Amino acid sequence: MDPNRYQGIGMTSRRTRERLVNRLAEEGIRDPRVLQAILEVPRHLFVDEALASRAYDNTPLPIGHGQTISQPWVVARMTELLIEQSIPERVLELGTGSGYQAAVLAYLGVEVYTIERIKALADQARQRMRDLKLHRVHVRYGDGSEGWPQHAPYQGIIVTAAPEEVPDPLWDQLDEGGRLVAPLGGAGRPQELVLIERVDGELRRRHVASVSFVPLLGGCR
Ligand code: SAH
Repeated sequence: MDPNRYQGIGMTSRRTRERLVNRLAEEGIRDPRVLQAILEVPRHLFVDEALASRAYDNTPLPIGHGQTISQPWVVARMTELLIEQSIPERVLELGTGSGYQAAVLAYLGVEVYTIERIKALADQARQRMRDLKLHRVHVRYGDGSEGWPQHAPYQGIIVTAAPEEVPDPLWDQLDEGGRLVAPLGGAGRPQELVLIERVDGELRRRHVASVSFVPLLGGCR
């Protein structure tokens, strides 16, 4: 890839990215590894070129098909929760979308298995990972509610579309000591971001924040 495109200029330059990182730090993101990842991963290459100048605003942006790339603060907070104890070896993501969240995790050294139910988005994300040489991200087209048993157990599971409740098949795929981060609440209802840890075979649940995600839907398109 053209290094200028990767590094960005003007509204996608390092200075613009630093402003976003400072803002996230002010809003409670503490982990320097996460702030570094947000600084380095080129979010402007995960949105349409027409939106590139807004890529380093702390807001969600449309990515087509009625879906959005999550707000940077949300990506940062969810990442922070997943890596708090240690960097997980393998993470399962439900809802690839643009692939940005997966790219942030891969930047931190995680092997990411991510599932997307809209074929066009899955294909586009896979191509992006190739262009950016993010070989640790594995994109699959399908319904994430079933998980991806072939690569289980996962030390982390991240759900980036909101279900009413955590889909049951995921529990069998979460490693002992593993962490699951998800917005729960479904469509059109207030959603809460929760962290669930599997400790000594038990599930411990903690409320993290109020959030707004697109719903987790069944089936594929
Ligand atoms: N993590 C993404 C943002 C996700 S938006 C990013 O960084 O850009 C939520 C995504 O979840 C959408 O693309 C939507 O199509 C997808 N999705 C919704 N239900 C799904 C399901 N059951 N399985 C897989 N993907 C799903």
